[in-house]
Amino acid sequence: MFIPLSSPDITEKEIEAILEVLESPNLALGPKMEQFERQMAALAGRRFGIAVNSGTSGLHLLVRALEIGEGDEVITTPFSFIASANCMLFERARPVFVDIDPDTLNMDPALIEAAVTPRTKGILPVHAFGQPAAMAPLMEIAERRGLKVIEDACEAIGAHYRGRPAGSFGDGSVFAFYPNKQITTGEGGVVLTDDERIAFLCRSMRNQGRGEGGGWLDHERLGFNYRLDELSCALGLAQLQRLPEILARRAAVAEKYNRLLAEIPGVTIPYISPEVKMSWFVYVIRLAQGIDRDRVMELMQERGVQCRPYFTPIHLQPFYQKQFGFNEGDFPVTEAVGRAVLALPFSTVLQEEQIVSVVDCLRESIEEAR
Ligand SMILES: *Cc1c(COP(=O)(O)O)cnc(C)c1O
Repeated sequence: MFIPLSSPDITEKEIEAILEVLESPNLALGPKMEQFERQMAALAGRRFGIAVNSGTSGLHLLVRALEIGEGDEVITTPFSFIASANCMLFERARPVFVDIDPDTLNMDPALIEAAVTPRTKGILPVHAFGQPAAMAPLMEIAERRGLKVIEDACEAIGAHYRGRPAGSFGDGSVFAFYPNKQITTGEGGVVLTDDERIAFLCRSMRNQGRGEGGGWLDHERLGFNYRLDELSCALGLAQLQRLPEILARRAAVAEKYNRLLAEIPGVTIPYISPEVKMSWFVYVIRLAQGIDRDRVMELMQERGVQCRPYFTPIHLQPFYQKQFGFNEGDFPVTEAVGRAVLALPFSTVLQEEQIVSVVDCLRESIEEAR
């Protein structure tokens, strides 16, 4: 038996879409990219979409477009994938972490205000595991304090907060399309914004700093090669067409897990706030304090069930500890959650029998680890 942590869901439609591009003269900066950008923007009710070669690239472009730089502080969560904090470091700005809500696992909005200093330039919320952060109190603080907001919606395509789509908040937002995400382009991401200037800057910096009307060898500003090719965009378009079906299928898998896991002592299933509509990215349980999470994980892997400790807190990553002097105890909720979490195999293509096998394996592994 081998059940992988995640699997992409690629059908004949995706394959045909890519073949069609291969037979066309345009492999980069072509019609598929424009179409993909338009559809992604529409999905979140945004004016502009800028396709990029990763979610990380998208976050980096927004940091630069919002002129967040050396010495600036951005308030964010330590319970995330490392890119949401690294994007500040690329520009010598400083991520200022605040602890998380123990239920939603998103930034605790009650802690944001106290973290604001004269150097604070922005807030970067992350919708962990596909559950939108508490955007109403967050946006209220940002507006009152004149702070920029970068919405890391990389894990939350199709989610809603109080009826509004993830990716529609803040000065700019980012979705990502790595193969473990709800929909994939291989590598890829998209920046969304309603601000024409931010859109223009991101588009220019994505393409080596080229301007709009200028020639291929005219570079108006420092830029990067963060472009997303036509093959990836065609794949993204085909996946996007199937998004409703994909999200429904993932919700059904989560529901099945919820039902089966409810009977296992020591296991806490994901908490979903009544304010949100979830877009299931990963399925993460928490184990009670007396259970050795790492041992359970080891036993499950030995039995062919891949699982992972999603997330290890960013401030405890070796590089962050060394660079900024963070220690155990700095963000106690994040750390306690980080020690207890376990991501189980989860994907659109996970079968009923596999879900049952994972749950059986978890039950046995917990018993053996006691
Ligand atoms: C996936 C993800 C990203 C972007 O990752 P890439 O691999 O660069 O596409 C950023 N932030 C979070 C929270 C993510 O989960």
